[in-house]
This record gives sequence, C-alpha cells and structure tokens, in this order.
Amino acid sequence: MSRCLVLNANYEYLAIEERWIDALGLVVSGKAEVLEAYPEVVRSQFLILPLPAVVVMRYLVRTRRRRAIFESASKQVVFSRDDFACQYCGVRIGMRSGTRDHVLPKSRGGADTLSNVVTACRDCNAKKGDRTPSEAGMHLRNPPRALTEEEKLQCLLKTVRTRERATWQACLRRHGITLWTSRAA
Ligand SMILES: [Zn+2]
Repeated sequence: MSRCLVLNANYEYLAIEERWIDALGLVVSGKAEVLEAYPEVVRSQFLILPLPAVVVMRYLVRTRRRRAIFESASKQVVFSRDDFACQYCGVRIGMRSGTRDHVLPKSRGGADTLSNVVTACRDCNAKKGDRTPSEAGMHLRNPPRALTEEEKLQCLLKTVRTRERATWQACLRRHGITLWTSRAA
C-alpha cells in the first residue's frame, strides 16, 4: 500500500505516514482532512473511504526537528545540494568516499551550516587543510548556500516510490503548496 504525505495545518511538511491505516486514522478521527487520494478505496463494514495520498492537519502541530532535517549541514543534504561532486576539483564522490569541507575552517570559527559547508573529495580536503579557499589557492565551483524549496522537496521525495511522488507533486502543484513556506493566512 502507498504512503501518505502529511502536511501541517499551515501546509508545511510534517511527516510521511508509512502505514495507510495510520493516515486513515488521522482522517477518521477528524485530526486531518484529505487533500489528495489514491484511486484505491478502503472498505469497512460501514464505510468506503478513499486511500489518502496527501492529508492536511486541522490543527498546527508544533515541530522544529522535522524542518531541521533539510537545514542542517549533514552529508546527505550537502552532497545532494552539490550533486555529489567535489566543489574544488569536480570529481564524483559517494556517501562513503566524500567529505564535508568547512569553507571557513571550524578551527577559525567557521559555522557548521549549509552556508559554510561544501562537498569535497578527500584529496582536496586534505590539501586545503586549515585554510580558506583563497589562502589555499583553490577555487570553489559553487558557493555554499541553503537549499531551495524545490531542493528540499527533491531531498524528501528521493526515498519515495514513483507513484507516490507523482501523486504528491501533482497535488502540491495544484494547490500551490510550497512545503516549507507558510501560506499567507
Ligand atoms: Zn576534489
């Protein structure tokens, strides 16, 4: 069965519900309403309900942690933003072989944020050492930056099956929902 995208009451991303019965539970209990459904229906003795694909909560669930997933300078997020290429020499890296480089070194007060961390191969990282790119005579292909809304969505959808992705994206587009920016009330 397919998973369900759960949006917060302000239409920001909240969670992916793995079990359809849990998603349906949110709807039946009145906690959420269906924004998009899959073609399948779920039958019980008294009810025939469409299988929820995207639901929106009726009340605001307070959450900081979930947003933070795509705002932290983790390997997954940094590598994904940089398209798995070393930002100094351009060589392709993998999750294991690649490293995170702090453009302004941590030892000199550089922050561990997306605006200071880039993808680097081991060689370039070692060569740069405790220096800035200009001190090391190295050129950055792209300056470090936060993810765009589209990139956050892509990051999120990477783990999702094709049909789920297509259904969710169509729904988000139709409703003009950008997952991480609150819609004007
Ligand atoms: Zn490199």
